[in-house]
Amino acid sequence: MNPNRKPIIAGNWKMYKTAAEAVALVNALKAEVAGIETVETVVCPPFTALAVVQPALAGSNVQLAAQNVHWEKEGAFTGEVSAPMLKELGVRYAVIGHSERRQFFGETDAGVNKRAKAALANGLRPIVCVGETLKEREANRTEQVIKTQITGGLAGLSKNEMLETVIAYEPVWAIGTGKTASPQQAQDVHAFIRKLIASLFDADTGARVRIQYGGSVKPDNAKELLGQPDIDGALVGGASLKADGFAAIVKAGVQA
Ligand code: PEP
Repeated sequence: MNPNRKPIIAGNWKMYKTAAEAVALVNALKAEVAGIETVETVVCPPFTALAVVQPALAGSNVQLAAQNVHWEKEGAFTGEVSAPMLKELGVRYAVIGHSERRQFFGETDAGVNKRAKAALANGLRPIVCVGETLKEREANRTEQVIKTQITGGLAGLSKNEMLETVIAYEPVWAIGTGKTASPQQAQDVHAFIRKLIASLFDADTGARVRIQYGGSVKPDNAKELLGQPDIDGALVGGASLKADGFAAIVKAGVQA
């Protein structure tokens, strides 16, 4: 990590937790992370829990994120939720282009780009996910895949919009599998992404953009991953569903 970039640890709850369970989890979490200001702590509950989690988080240092956002402000888009709808609920961040969205729901880089722009236009900060599959890594295509996802997903953003955006590098083969990229494997891709952002924007933007790692981050591997120079936080799935485990990852971010 780098002192010029505030680490961001976000918990992606996926399709877990009813509204009542979500409130119980954030009540426990906010007590665990109270007073931590050097790391940004974010939770991404399902849409159905956002309205009840927001008041539970009021006055705490934990921020609210949605797991997706549509590009239109309203319309005939069954099953989708718009940026103004999320903003009204006190949502600060929106995860966009998670590999599960790409894999199971056909989301594309062009769609990621439209969602990211709509989020930014409405005062939400995108967390844009990128990452290669095992097949792509084994074929030595990791950098090409990431480059395509980033140039497509972030096309047309201004420098300021890029700086509002967080990139989450999540190798698909490490998500929910218990397999983590080694700290060096993750660092190599993060450094590549930072250089790519510097070439697409400018050196200052590359130096300031925050890049999270995601893929089986747990309390026992968090510190080493977060200690890498270009890793500015974590996007955490499974291990974010328990307050003590997730808080341990946030605390690892404080120490890294
Ligand atoms: C994720 O859902 O973004 C993720 C990284 O999941 P897990 O931590 O369970 O691998």
